[in-house]
Amino acid sequence: MQTIMTEPPNLRSDAFEALIRGIVGPLADEVDRAGRFPREGIRALGEAGLLGLLSARENGGAGAGLREAAQVIEGLAGACGSTAMVLLMHYSAVTALDRHAPEDVRREIAAGRHLTTLAFSERGSRSHFWAPVSTAEPQGADAVRLDAQKSWVTAAGEADSYVWSSRPLRADGPMSLWLVPAGSAGLEVHGDYDGFGLRGNASSPVSATAVAVPRSALLGADGEGLSTALEVVLPCFLVLSAAFSLGVTEALLGLTAAHLRNTRLAHLDQTLAQQPMTRNQFAGLRLRADALRALLEETLTATETGRPEATLRVLQIKALAAETAAEVADGAMRLCGGAAFRRETGVERRFRDALAARVMAPTTEALHDFCGRVELGLPLFEEA
Ligand SMILES: Cc1cc2nc3c(=O)[nH]c(=O)nc-3n(C[C@H](O)[C@H](O)[C@H](O)COP(=O)(O)OP(=O)(O)OC[C@H]3O[C@@H](n4cnc5c(N)ncnc54)[C@H](O)[C@@H]3O)c2cc1C
Repeated sequence: MQTIMTEPPNLRSDAFEALIRGIVGPLADEVDRAGRFPREGIRALGEAGLLGLLSARENGGAGAGLREAAQVIEGLAGACGSTAMVLLMHYSAVTALDRHAPEDVRREIAAGRHLTTLAFSERGSRSHFWAPVSTAEPQGADAVRLDAQKSWVTAAGEADSYVWSSRPLRADGPMSLWLVPAGSAGLEVHGDYDGFGLRGNASSPVSATAVAVPRSALLGADGEGLSTALEVVLPCFLVLSAAFSLGVTEALLGLTAAHLRNTRLAHLDQTLAQQPMTRNQFAGLRLRADALRALLEETLTATETGRPEATLRVLQIKALAAETAAEVADGAMRLCGGAAFRRETGVERRFRDALAARVMAPTTEALHDFCGRVELGLPLFEEA
């Protein structure tokens, strides 16, 4: 396949549009119905240089920023939520790996030959990813034993590696991070993912029983994993999650507008769009989407220019986006009526995909708490 870029890409390019129209979009319904991993799309993204989009240029990556990554995720999310979420988790994990992983791994990612993901959420501490209960124990001088019950891992059994959280080896901090190769003995993926939405996402539980990794698999210092998560992983995840929700929202509005314009009430000789209440409700949904886009733009600018409110904006944007997507999805289902209840309009698939973001950690409830803490001058986390 043609390589899309070596430079930070022009994501409005014909090649990116062709990738969506030619590969990702046409497979999306089958991926959803069968609940199967969108391997073809991920392979094409790798070949197009998009798995290495956020990788540093010195490792062979495009060295792009969150703005470009957000454009990619938004574009993909409207076509296939599962593909977009797999890439979103890859990008989030790459932020930690590009800082701390061995050079050969960083180069493989930049070259588009290595898919990675986050293994943070646990059966024990659930959506409270900042408090892992899984363990890391020293084994002799050079090895570490990992034991865990991870509750949700996107691309489980499909990715090449996991960015893995645990309690520290010896340090006092709340968390350490590890690079765990997917083929490690003792890792087990539990069942195929049969989800409500994002059905191609392979978000299965993964357990670790006496998984042995070298000490060099530690990403950063022991006990410093939460700092890495807060400094690089979380900002990336939150902004790209917002872009994901915006992409699904835009797709829902596009499908809804087409339905309203093209569907007629024969006895009135009018379209649904000509009904005042209908277009009033549609305008309300459009307004929410436009307000979300404006705050996402403001968030990106605040982070790029280091403005003091950047942290608050990054926390706000995922909460706003997740709730906007869910509300617009509900409104689209209502406006498109019984037609949307069938698969044929494409609305119900996006409705199901839209509901994931608000329960993905940090959830909307957790983000509101974090925002309140920032606004009121409190620490994000209470001391244990
Ligand atoms: C499609 C999908 C893909 C995912 N992929 C990944 C992945 O790649 N890696 C990963 O690490 N995780 C992943 N997750 C997990 C996700 O990040 C969350 O951890 C998970 O969805 C939380 O579900 P739970 O049932 O454990 O939530 P719970 O923690 O049981 O929470 C249930 C509800 O209670 C609320 N709640 C919890 N605690 C409080 C509180 N103290 N106060 C008020 N409300 C509270 C939550 O906000 C939520 O609405 C994924 C989840 C989904 C749905």
